[in-house]
Amino acid sequence: MRRVYMDANATTPLVPEVFEAMRPYYMERFGNAASIHMEGQQARAAVDQARESVATLIGARSSEIVFTSGGTESDNLALFGSLRAGDHLITSAIEHSAVLHTAQELAKRGVEVTYVGCDRASRISADAVQAAMRPNTKLVSIMLANNETGVLQPVAEFAEIAHKHGALFHTDAVQAAGKVPINVAALDCDLLSVSAHKIHGPQGVGALFVRRNVRITPLFYGGTHERQRRAGTENLPGIVGFGKASELALQWMASGGPAVLAAERDRLESGILAAINETGVNGAGAQRVANTTNLYFDHVEAEALLIALDLKGLAVSGGSACQSGATEPSHVLLAMGLSPARARASLRFSLSKLAANADVDFALDVVPSAVARLRELSPSYKAFAAK
Ligand code: PLP
Repeated sequence: MRRVYMDANATTPLVPEVFEAMRPYYMERFGNAASIHMEGQQARAAVDQARESVATLIGARSSEIVFTSGGTESDNLALFGSLRAGDHLITSAIEHSAVLHTAQELAKRGVEVTYVGCDRASRISADAVQAAMRPNTKLVSIMLANNETGVLQPVAEFAEIAHKHGALFHTDAVQAAGKVPINVAALDCDLLSVSAHKIHGPQGVGALFVRRNVRITPLFYGGTHERQRRAGTENLPGIVGFGKASELALQWMASGGPAVLAAERDRLESGILAAINETGVNGAGAQRVANTTNLYFDHVEAEALLIALDLKGLAVSGGSACQSGATEPSHVLLAMGLSPARARASLRFSLSKLAANADVDFALDVVPSAVARLRELSPSYKAFAAK
């Protein structure tokens, strides 16, 4: 059966160039990057080259890149690494759980936390960040692109406010990297998280940008790896794959890839809206990354629709992957002011850069019939239709 994958915000497949780049580092070039002999030196050179590539993706110096096990660890390192009991953290209500649950744990350990809200399109305002500042605010952490809606935040404005008050600024750029150009100098952030598997690199590898002269406390103690910021033998093949994926992402953006992908996403979105009534875009009107659309289908349980689409061969998501299986409506959609019923009727379609024209045609073929079928069984739709 044909499968069409539209869940790129959960993860993306390796592209062949990335896999080929990684392959030798599992076997013949297996060295430990901390060893002095030739095998070690080869590994060190490969890690250094990948560090340069990841740094280039976000406009950083290579010495400012700390390799981690992924976006989750990068977020944990940014928050735990810069906050102590008595400090104040400002973050947002729409962060990924890698930031939200870290903030909740920090609160238990004596850090004061403020969660700023967002508008109907999931935009966070600089005024809200400004109003939340306190004399003891040590860190502001607000994501660059939201994983559920794809909506981009004006993080440079938040960074300016944080710095004016002597606080650091962190952004979770996991869903923005490789989709929009990122320059840490222009964003003026001190800490920035990225993850390889969202950009056709391997799972289990990420990085935290730590601006020069910004000191963080490590999460792990052990060797002096990563300039004493992250102990543990580097994930050599993973890091090499991350480097290659970063180079390819930059090339893709430079060659106009995002505009082509946005056109496909828009065709999907407008096709669905034209074919199905009582449907709309969550985050409409806001600036978004090219690949994401989050749609509500009133009178339908998104979980049932997700399963129906999966059976037809289309993979989509009912929110962030980490919450799938949970029946709670998405915290992001609730923070945007959606009713719990509409939040439960929402699905995320996230295209990868490999998405073909025919994939969108396939989705446009299967989604309307699946929604119609579920609505036939929906008492609330029957009541609506009878009006
Ligand atoms: N932050 C955001 C915005 C994400 O979307 C994700 C993954 O879904 C993460 C962090 C976690 O990244 P990782 O899966 O590499 O731990």
